[in-house]
Amino acid sequence: MIQYQKENLTVFQSSLYMTTSAVIETDDAIVMTDPNWLPVEVEGIKKYIESNLGSKQLYIIYTHNDYDHIIGAGAFSNAIVIASEEFAQYPDKEKVVQQNREFDEGHYLERTYDHIYPDVDVVVKHDGQQLKAGDLTLTFYKSPGHTNDGIFTVVEPYGIFLSGDYLSDVEFPFISGSYHDYVRTIDTAETIFNKYDIKVHVPGHGRTTEDKREMDSRLDFSMYYLQELPKEDEELKAHMQEKFTFFNFMSGVHDDNKKVALRELEKGRSNC
Ligand SMILES: [Zn+2]
Repeated sequence: MIQYQKENLTVFQSSLYMTTSAVIETDDAIVMTDPNWLPVEVEGIKKYIESNLGSKQLYIIYTHNDYDHIIGAGAFSNAIVIASEEFAQYPDKEKVVQQNREFDEGHYLERTYDHIYPDVDVVVKHDGQQLKAGDLTLTFYKSPGHTNDGIFTVVEPYGIFLSGDYLSDVEFPFISGSYHDYVRTIDTAETIFNKYDIKVHVPGHGRTTEDKREMDSRLDFSMYYLQELPKEDEELKAHMQEKFTFFNFMSGVHDDNKKVALRELEKGRSNC
């Protein structure tokens, strides 16, 4: 399903968890994020790419290595792969591939390709690292916190911000990495919004937006959430219940987030 299409940006949305795959096309390159989830959806994206690729080079940015974000990797083995050095050096690659196999087994899904953990061609090592892809300039920033291996990408000259699993309108922050990293990554996002003229924001789950107020509100909510998380959270929970349609499903993640935050803050105090 196509969630958004305008000029050279097309965003596919999976039926599962509103997961997105962004496709950006120019005269000599196509840049895509995280092709996903279901076999028919991955095939649809693949057909779309094949019919538009011609002699252009295909690049895939893996925003991070949660299994749902690399589930389509095996279908695009010829792409130039971009990801963080933490993604490239991840010690448990086979485990992620196995999660994909188990997902398919658990849902009786067959695919035309084998699951793989992508080999990284362009390793993102530091904030502000750039890559020219045709007439696009991609600028990368490390974004740990959700996982340890995330990256943000700004695509110029079009002002597209690919934020991976941050700044979603359908999810509050999911902290599987570190709380402190997450706080710093949201500061990085703020820097990006201040530094670039962001015209379109594509989150890894949720809706693409061109509305600057909506972008601000996504950023503000993450900041508010991270600030309130270690405190008494009845008010925060009530707010989320109202804000997020699927909050009941996600409330366990919130409780885990709180444990992570409190553990890190407690550790910080005992180190003083
Ligand atoms: Zn995700």
